[in-house]
Amino acid sequence: MPLSPHRSASGAAVSALEETYERILRRNPGEPEFHQAVREVLDALVPVLDARPELADAKVVERITEPERQIIFRVPWTDDSGEIHVNRGFRVEFNGVLGPYKGGLRFHPSVNLGIMKFLSFEQVFKNALTGLSLGGGKGGSDFDPHGRSDAEVMRFCQSFMTELHRHLGEHTDVPAGDIGVGTREIGYLFGQYRRLTNRWEAGVLTGKGPGWGGSAGRPEATGYGNVLFTAEMLRLIGEDYEGRQVLVSGSGNVAIHTVEKAQSLGANVITVSDSGGYVVDEKGIDVALLRQVKEVERGRVSDYAEARGSSARYVPGGSVWDVPADIAFPSATQNELDADAAATLVRNGVKAVSEGANMPATPEAVRLFREAGVAFGPGKAANAGGVATSGLEMRQNAGRESWTFEQVENELARIMRSVHEEVYATAERYGAPGDYVLGANIAGFERVTEAVLAQGLI
Ligand code: NDP
Repeated sequence: MPLSPHRSASGAAVSALEETYERILRRNPGEPEFHQAVREVLDALVPVLDARPELADAKVVERITEPERQIIFRVPWTDDSGEIHVNRGFRVEFNGVLGPYKGGLRFHPSVNLGIMKFLSFEQVFKNALTGLSLGGGKGGSDFDPHGRSDAEVMRFCQSFMTELHRHLGEHTDVPAGDIGVGTREIGYLFGQYRRLTNRWEAGVLTGKGPGWGGSAGRPEATGYGNVLFTAEMLRLIGEDYEGRQVLVSGSGNVAIHTVEKAQSLGANVITVSDSGGYVVDEKGIDVALLRQVKEVERGRVSDYAEARGSSARYVPGGSVWDVPADIAFPSATQNELDADAAATLVRNGVKAVSEGANMPATPEAVRLFREAGVAFGPGKAANAGGVATSGLEMRQNAGRESWTFEQVENELARIMRSVHEEVYATAERYGAPGDYVLGANIAGFERVTEAVLAQGLI
């Protein structure tokens, strides 16, 4: 598939990037999500390479699309009945020019090397956009925590960390949570790291509990950050949240805090979902009840609907994007919003769509939003509040400090405004004001590239 032509681009930049992309496809077979993530970045780089041909001689694109290190390991553990299970663990340390590798751990049966590579590649540019000193990495396992007891999750986490610990360190590689990894899992992982190394090294993991080195506001940060980023997008199109109908997909960490923050700004958030189906709650999602069902009882959104009573309707299967709304926050997983869903949202008059999850909108869906003039916030920028607050957690750990929720929230708000500003200004500089996809990819790339060039051939 050819790269999208850019109006100012010369043929040379386009064909060089196409060749690079073809080579990436050949060298990384069977990794469609990684191809998709790389393609989006290369697409945006056409005008940059056009303006700076010296970057092609320095092979910058080839260098930043190859991970620095890919670690794959066996994770054996026993379940409560004594049966042995063997899972596969991953850590992809993609690029460390801006700081220690930083990015979450995902525990989900779909995890494979291609998904780890897509997530860590995205993370490099996202972390660059925060303006903090953070490299990019990602890891996880095909372990499925659903339905597992606390003791089983603990044994799995201990086995996982028994191998992973030798690759980590507060100045080397600092994981956090992602799908299937929350404060409980970070606790078990941190405990095992401390036991193996005999070091109370708070800065080696983020997303820790508030009493043992965690930052206030870290659980809220990704969802809150996306709502704040979108507030900036809305402001520029003369809109705000007041009385707006909002869709959120997912019902995990990112989704819950997206609902909470959007409601606090006057929005009427009417949906959440999980892999089984979605809930429409005409009175607006009751966050306290959702938390109780998801975080305390570890239940499903169908349980929420049942407990909520007549205002909520559970739809098994189906697409949450069929519900008419003004604003949509896909906050579950990659490629959950396809072209059909995008067409439906556009037909129903959606004004803004912003990615809480990583790459939840397919390339065709993104193209439809851009063509329809919908304000579209790509995850790299819109969900950067999570990792930015992880950066703040590292700062507190290094200084043995503990900031208040208000301090962290103010800093998060400042960072999200600044990410928005930089992304917007970059898109404008390249003649495409309001194109946040172009702006985020170029702004992230520029910051990484300056460091790559400055640090020699590494
Ligand atoms: P959680 O594990 O807390 O929640 C994930 C939610 O997504 C659950 O409701 C889950 O439902 C749903 N989900 C997962 N896989 C699928 C699927 N294949 N189809 C439908 N629904 C699915 O994860 P987070 O909230 O932390 O992460 C959500 C997204 O946000 C991910 O893309 C993650 O990479 C991204 N993100 C997270 C950050 C963070 O700080 N946590 C930071 C930046 C991005 P079910 O229980 O049925 O699987």
